[in-house]
Amino acid sequence: MSRPLKCRRVAFLPSVAYFKPAGIPLRALEEVRLSVEEAEAIRLKDLEGLEQEEGAEKMNISRPTFQRGLASGRQKIADALLNGKAIRIEGGSFEMAFSRFKCLNGHEWEVPFEVMMSTPPQLCPTCNTASIEPLLSAGFGWKGRGRYRGRQRMQQNSNDYMG
Ligand SMILES: [Zn+2]
Repeated sequence: MSRPLKCRRVAFLPSVAYFKPAGIPLRALEEVRLSVEEAEAIRLKDLEGLEQEEGAEKMNISRPTFQRGLASGRQKIADALLNGKAIRIEGGSFEMAFSRFKCLNGHEWEVPFEVMMSTPPQLCPTCNTASIEPLLSAGFGWKGRGRYRGRQRMQQNSNDYMG
């Protein structure tokens, strides 16, 4: 817990973290790196159609910061698309707006960030078993494929929770 970094909040992790133009060998490709925060700003603004103010609020950041992330993210995507570069989406400093949990009976549910911080769940809300675990690794499926290199609060939260 050394960096007093203000964390952006994201509600979504892309399931695919790497895009490349067809027909170009990977080693010949240039790559642009899109952060999870930039991807989230673009998702909120361009896919969900939120105003910048709303997007900034959802990400727990100021509007100028949101606008910068949006602009740099769009610029990178345009660069990749028009100049034939690959896009790698990778971690920065963020925390998830939700955590998913699972009980041993297979029920899954989401816990909002605020609740996680104040009262992490102890029981499954469906069957009341105490045998529950966070599904962080599932949410980070692409981490397992070696494409995700964030060292972010998500990890810390997870450890805190387990510990
Ligand atoms: Zn259950």
